Amino acid sequence: MKMKRIGVLTSGGDTPGMNAAIRAVVKAGMHYGAEVYGIYKGYYGLIHDIIKPLDGNSVYNIIHRGGTILKSARCKEFKTAEGREKAFETLKKYDIDGLVVIGGDGTLTGARLLGKEHDFPVIGLPGTIDNDLYGTDYTIGYDTAVNTVVAAVDKIRDTAHSHDRLFIVEVMGRDAGFIALRSGIATGAEKILIPEAKTFIEDLYESLEKGKSHDEGAGIIIVAEGDDFGGALEVEKKIREKFPDYDIRVSILGHIQRGGAPTAYDRVLASGLGYQAVKALIDGKRGMMVGSINRKIEFTPFEQTIKYNRPVNVELHTIAEILAL
Ligand code: ADP
Repeated sequence: MKMKRIGVLTSGGDTPGMNAAIRAVVKAGMHYGAEVYGIYKGYYGLIHDIIKPLDGNSVYNIIHRGGTILKSARCKEFKTAEGREKAFETLKKYDIDGLVVIGGDGTLTGARLLGKEHDFPVIGLPGTIDNDLYGTDYTIGYDTAVNTVVAAVDKIRDTAHSHDRLFIVEVMGRDAGFIALRSGIATGAEKILIPEAKTFIEDLYESLEKGKSHDEGAGIIIVAEGDDFGGALEVEKKIREKFPDYDIRVSILGHIQRGGAPTAYDRVLASGLGYQAVKALIDGKRGMMVGSINRKIEFTPFEQTIKYNRPVNVELHTIAEILAL
């Protein structure tokens, strides 16, 4: 079947680079002679008919902008078969032949169900700052988020050392420690706490004792929000119990990690994957996420991206511990 009209939406948590991906989808569509329709607010807009055609002008001057011009949303209704039925009706109403969705695990889960239940071609792009999707080395937005954390922690370190303070910095990652591990290594953090590695309180105390010998207790501990201690505030309590004299501050970086101009890496990744998503639809592919593994474009069926988790590099965590001593 010829793809005459392609829909594109962004869903779940927004990430820097989503705009570059939307731009690539629109331009690739123009290249292959397909019209591209923007669906606003993710699956909510698909159910509630918030749709507009996009052209070159719509995506002009957006490659460097964070967020998503199509807006994003979380939509409970889409988790029901009735919701997805309504979404499918909207696709039919607009004569849309194929859909590109950009988002994380939840978004791809929804995409799989929509495609299966209504025999509809859907291709997914990995859009999450957490980098925890199976089927790609990097997700769109991860590199930017890591660089944002690094810039923030470098600043925090200046004040940490000026006051001999210990900073506990909480970064995003409820289920995965990718952001924490990478930013922790890049900033030379004294300790990195991630959900994938059990943290023993005695080890933490020991590292702090060692660190004290060269800088009066100043330092940085990076904590992924999903660490088994339960976040930075809990870690702070534990440290205070043992070291009541330490000058400790907690900094929860929060949503700044989602925003800002995407790095060159994210722009290039999003551009390449956006183009490949459209080409895949044109080639008759469906039900898959496009990713990049070892510099090669790879298609992973939604079933697999949802079922498997991409593990963090645990060896890197061990190396980080050695380098922090
Ligand atoms: P992300 O895509 O970043 O993981 P969410 O988990 O919030 O973000 O998912 C985004 C949207 O995808 C949800 O609001 C919902 O509309 C849809 N979705 C998530 N999980 C499912 C599911 N199990 N079935 C159908 N749709 C889902």
